Amino acid sequence: PPVYEQRYYFVKNLVNQHGLKKIADLGYGDATLLWMLKYHRCVECLVGVDIAAQPFEWGGGRLSPGVGGFIIPRELDLTITLYRGSVVQKDSRLRGFDLITCIELIEHLDSEDLAKFPEVVFGYFSPGMVVISTPNSEFNPLFPASTFRNPDHRFEWDRKQFQTWALDVGKLYSYSVEFTGVGDPPAGAEHVGYCTQIGVFQKNIAKATGSSISEPEEHVYEVVYRTSY
Ligand code: SAM
Repeated sequence: PPVYEQRYYFVKNLVNQHGLKKIADLGYGDATLLWMLKYHRCVECLVGVDIAAQPFEWGGGRLSPGVGGFIIPRELDLTITLYRGSVVQKDSRLRGFDLITCIELIEHLDSEDLAKFPEVVFGYFSPGMVVISTPNSEFNPLFPASTFRNPDHRFEWDRKQFQTWALDVGKLYSYSVEFTGVGDPPAGAEHVGYCTQIGVFQKNIAKATGSSISEPEEHVYEVVYRTSY
């Protein structure tokens, strides 16, 4: 399958493997990943946040219960909410998730937003797990034009740059991190690594018990779509 699908399947497998219930996808784009996750029986709550979220987009249509949902009723309730907002804004409705995914998101943040991102996602949202994917620039010479893969990218990191950033973030917010990727290099070019690099962050137990429940509610994001079944 194409690399973008491999990224979604990577998340799907992780959700299955850990039986995750509450998942938020930051920068959900056309909502394909959320749409894939809604078929998982373990999932009870799906949230998407995108700065460019459009009300009544087809993304919402795909997320509605649909015929299948009535023919095969779910054992568990599922709610899906899409918000318009930026990942550098704190919104208390994003706290307490099992997993937050950021698929091909961080390379779209300018340096000011990238600097704010860890405090919001790891410090404030503070989910059990975080998955971050981003292009591996070492793979780029294998593409015909060796510039950025997308004109909206603010940066593309090699493995060392991504891993250094991720390990620093993990240390600061008490998450362990493992590195992997999707999109195998062709034979003979194994040294460049995966096309997409992925960091899987797990919150350390010690931190989980010390979370501050007493923080006030802050609702900043705008709801653009909500459904439950
Ligand atoms: N995750 C999707 C996927 O893998 O197909 C979409 C990836 S797309 C390359 C990046 C997405 O991030 C876009 O939908 C964009 O609107 C969103 N985005 C960019 N900056 C953002 C921000 N500060 N807060 C929330 N979303 C943002």
